[in-house]
Amino acid sequence: MYPDLKLFIAGEWRKTDVTIPVINPATEAELGRLPCASIKDLDDALEAAVIGFQIWRKTSPRARADIIMHAAKLLRERQEKIAHSITLEHGKPLSQARLEVIRGAEFFEWDAGEAMRTYGRIIPAAPGHKFSVHHQPAGVVAAFSPWNFPMSQPARKIAGALASGCAIILKAAEETPAGAVHIAKAFEDAGLPAGVLNLVFGQPSEISEHLIPKDPVQLVAFTGSTAVGRHLTTLASHHMTRVLLELGGHAPVIICEDTDIKTAAVSSAVRKMRNTGQVCTSPTRFFAHEHIFEEYAAGFVQRAASTLVGNGMEPGIEMGPTANDRRIPALIELVEDAKAKGATVATGGGRHGDRGFFFQPTVLLNVPKDARIMQEEPFGPVAVINPVASLDDAIEQANSVPFGLAGYGFTNRADYIDRLVDELEVGNLSINTLEASMPETPFGGVKSSGQGREGGTEGLENYMTIKNVWHSANIT
Ligand code: NAD
Repeated sequence: MYPDLKLFIAGEWRKTDVTIPVINPATEAELGRLPCASIKDLDDALEAAVIGFQIWRKTSPRARADIIMHAAKLLRERQEKIAHSITLEHGKPLSQARLEVIRGAEFFEWDAGEAMRTYGRIIPAAPGHKFSVHHQPAGVVAAFSPWNFPMSQPARKIAGALASGCAIILKAAEETPAGAVHIAKAFEDAGLPAGVLNLVFGQPSEISEHLIPKDPVQLVAFTGSTAVGRHLTTLASHHMTRVLLELGGHAPVIICEDTDIKTAAVSSAVRKMRNTGQVCTSPTRFFAHEHIFEEYAAGFVQRAASTLVGNGMEPGIEMGPTANDRRIPALIELVEDAKAKGATVATGGGRHGDRGFFFQPTVLLNVPKDARIMQEEPFGPVAVINPVASLDDAIEQANSVPFGLAGYGFTNRADYIDRLVDELEVGNLSINTLEASMPETPFGGVKSSGQGREGGTEGLENYMTIKNVWHSANIT
């Protein structure tokens, strides 16, 4: 069920002397040993990526797309096997892991198509002169993907890099390495030239500090916390290396008085607990108009409290454990702080069971503005629901955090929707749905939630440079 974990460097699979355990967060059993890259492994990956880049940049966009589409097809065919390893290492319900595999394949399929549409531009010029704008692959990408989506997070970065003609060295998350291993295997089987995709694991700071300063690395692509994103940006800035960052969120949901309250409450509770709340776009701060607050909160709490929590391998489970033991104390601290400041714990509030990293679906009501959770992303199954007096009040509170990734509204009033579109400080706004993005839509944040976009027609721009060409017919 669980793959043999190895590094993938220069088209070959490698074991290492130093390994760390990969733990099943539902049972705390060891699933396998993860090889940690040495400095020599990293240097080999760099050398391979430089060679791979020279081959891949000269491969036609259609030939690149063919290989990417082939790998995506293999991932779809291997869906069941990959989903099982994701559930084992991450804990999410198998049904959600299956969907994640398909979403990962879709990222590859969309970007493969886009690879053939990275059009340039002709700019009108005087007779005898031609101005043209060309998009060219940036170079070697050093990418770092997190543990919350073991398959789709690495897929986003590998898809963007490969479709653009870049080579990539990916450090996938140590807690959840199998998704990236399956992707590398699919690309090996699809005939990707050696060195174009390299996969490493190990000590995160050692790897980023070794790779980012190296000359061939022209782009750092990172998804994770704002704190680490800031650190990597500082490292990259010393070398004027570009960064693509998808960082933390603390998504507001504004529930207006005109909405279908019961349906919105159930949808909110279900969506909040998806992936155990460990999603950067997870709805987190719910602002309900004071006229409907009681009814909305009651419906939300009832549905949240009935969430079936357990090992994602078991049928019917709706929410698995948190992915690692770090989240439990962090969540308890946030809940205790909110309680001490006067919030009501309507359901949950603590650890679930005594084995595995489970946390209860938790709803906090009437949380004061000075509680830490009003500013800090919980990244777990904890929701805050507060009443607001007006849309002005809701928008002001929604914007009162340093984050700006996703935002949501429940309303059918055109004037309210216009205001949310104009005034919410987020990169992704969804009305009457708590889905935030698709492969064909540009995804990314404003404020401290990141820089650049992945997906959509905008996605490949981050992985490419722009060259302006002035061609004069005569020497001037
Ligand atoms: P963390 O900040 O320690 O790590 C987040 C990710 O960054 C991990 O995958 C880790 O391996 C990597 N990382 C850490 N230090 C690094 C370094 N010096 N160089 C390169 N990579 C490095 O936090 P955590 O405890 O793993 O996760 C909790 C927080 O991370 C959450 O509060 C959330 O904000 C954020 N997070 C965000 C996303 C997202 O999708 N945006 C995903 C996972 C975690």
